[in-house]
Amino acid sequence: MSFAYARPESWESAAALLQDATSQPLGGGTDLIPLIREHQQSPTRVVDLRGIAEARRIVRMDDGSVTIGAAVTLRELALDVTLRESFPALSEACHAVGSYALRAMGTLGGNLCQHVRCWYFRQGHECLRLGGTHCSAQRGENQYHAVFQQGPCVAVHPSDPAVALHALEAQVHVQRASGARTVPMAEFLAPSRERLDATTVLAPGEFVTAVTIPAHSSGGVQLYEKSMQRGAWDFALVSLAALRRPDGEVRLVLGGVANTPWRVTDSIEEDLASGGLAAEDIETLAQRALYDATPLAGNAYKLDIAAALLRRAMGRLVTS
Ligand SMILES: Cc1cc2nc3c(=O)[nH]c(=O)nc-3n(C[C@H](O)[C@H](O)[C@H](O)COP(=O)(O)OP(=O)(O)OC[C@H]3O[C@@H](n4cnc5c(N)ncnc54)[C@H](O)[C@@H]3O)c2cc1C
Repeated sequence: MSFAYARPESWESAAALLQDATSQPLGGGTDLIPLIREHQQSPTRVVDLRGIAEARRIVRMDDGSVTIGAAVTLRELALDVTLRESFPALSEACHAVGSYALRAMGTLGGNLCQHVRCWYFRQGHECLRLGGTHCSAQRGENQYHAVFQQGPCVAVHPSDPAVALHALEAQVHVQRASGARTVPMAEFLAPSRERLDATTVLAPGEFVTAVTIPAHSSGGVQLYEKSMQRGAWDFALVSLAALRRPDGEVRLVLGGVANTPWRVTDSIEEDLASGGLAAEDIETLAQRALYDATPLAGNAYKLDIAAALLRRAMGRLVTS
């Protein structure tokens, strides 16, 4: 369980260190260190990105877009006054993460790249993500798992900010030693049918440097709602980021229901944007949004929660 520690001061040095496939980026360590302790991951070196000044900055551009460095903490994001005014869905999602201590330690990059919370994976049981032959949760304890099946693994991605950033149409900036690319947040998390060795589309040696939220997602009506079993300090059973942008477009993205944040179909978003809806229309739209769900034995209750969150959010979007 021993590993080396490096704290580069530039993206270039970080990229050079991370070229070695046995090195891993480190943010706050709140997920990586427990995974190393539990022998789920075993890097020979961790590369702490918090020493890079640019990684800790929130930069506002004149056009109204904002770029957030990968090492900015969730607490800083939750408290930032400009973000709260322009992108309240993200502020609320960051505020909804875990406890005060987790928000103070956890970074945006680490939160987006954190691993699944499925207990079969975390406790080293039979699990496809650990090289096993089947997903134990499919027929086992699956009350916290997916209701929209992207399979073969049925774990949901635990990040609250990822759900808000998907709705806000954020772009994720990715770097490697040989160059850089930008990935839409909507494509950054990988469904398990695409890969089981990671929860993101990052290739070996790649890491997140920043996330940009476009100006067109600024303002309007925005909310992030999260339903939890314990009421606080917990992962989402179901969450919802809902926006009505100043240009009239609506975005609805559910969390806790699939391997990746789940955008409600655009025909429902369009119906909502067209306005003039009565309470029974909203009820119909909420039911339609969940029509394709195929819950597992233990988690049909998530559909009731999702419907309630959708009804409430849609009501607010049409009346605000
Ligand atoms: C009790 C508990 C409750 C929690 N509740 C919630 C919750 O309600 N909502 C929620 O969203 N999260 C929750 N979390 C998760 C917590 O927010 C994450 O542990 C945290 O955000 C990870 O951030 P970090 O900076 O500590 O990541 P780290 O632990 O440092 O890294 C996590 C992973 O990301 C990789 N990584 C880190 N930075 C980068 C980067 N820049 N580029 C590429 N890869 C990178 C690491 O290599 C590692 O694989 C909870 C965690 C715990 C332990």
